[in-house]
Amino acid sequence: MQSGHHNGHRRVLDADYSKMSLNERLAFLVEGRKNPVFTTSLGIEDQVLTAALSVAAPRVRIVTLETGRLFEETMALIEQTQERYGITIERFRPDEALLADYAAQHGMNGFYESVAARHACCGVRKLEPLARALSGADLWITGLRRGQSATRSSADFIEYDAERQLVKANPLADWSIEDIKSHVAGHAIPINPLHARGYPSIGCEPCTRAIKPGEDERAGRWWWENDEQRECGLHVAQEGEQPSVQASAVNG
Ligand code: SF4
Repeated sequence: MQSGHHNGHRRVLDADYSKMSLNERLAFLVEGRKNPVFTTSLGIEDQVLTAALSVAAPRVRIVTLETGRLFEETMALIEQTQERYGITIERFRPDEALLADYAAQHGMNGFYESVAARHACCGVRKLEPLARALSGADLWITGLRRGQSATRSSADFIEYDAERQLVKANPLADWSIEDIKSHVAGHAIPINPLHARGYPSIGCEPCTRAIKPGEDERAGRWWWENDEQRECGLHVAQEGEQPSVQASAVNG
């Protein structure tokens, strides 16, 4: 059992993903996994993965973090995607007591006031629900791409998330935004109408704006913060800058 797990781990790490199709990557990644989970934000990359998983690896659980602050368009896309692919997207919502604490301390929109308040909000609305979503998972599939931002430019197909003690797979790591767009068009994959209005990366409504031509794809996220490394904490590398926030959010 132990060695089987180990061999499986090595097998997955050593594979040459660059030579495989997306469906091959997914089927290969999932083989032998007991509880593979894909977290979708309903962004365009994630829609590509949802469509592919429904064919290549339908037993993968598809989950989303329903933060309570999503765009109407995103909420509608959850429904539309379920119908289109005949799937259920599991929704993880913030814990009510933690949310009340946050509101009492910072105010519902306190995230504009300081980076700490913003991380606290993401902690309650995203990280704690994510920890629940990934509890017991043995593979975490994401839609990260190297082209999304400077922070993500070194994303590998397979990483080990030491904090969550999980193998994390980014099967679209080497896809460009052009690859994504042509795939979506070719497969008539439903996407968020906000993408066409200048939002390549879509998160919570109060924390996302449209970007200007030439800006980084994630420039519209938490745009009021100056920190080049800004992320919500879902995909922070081990040497990332917010371990204490992450730890307290996940444990709290
Ligand atoms: S993105 Fe904004 S609203 Fe959403 S959880 Fe983070 S701080 Fe809160």
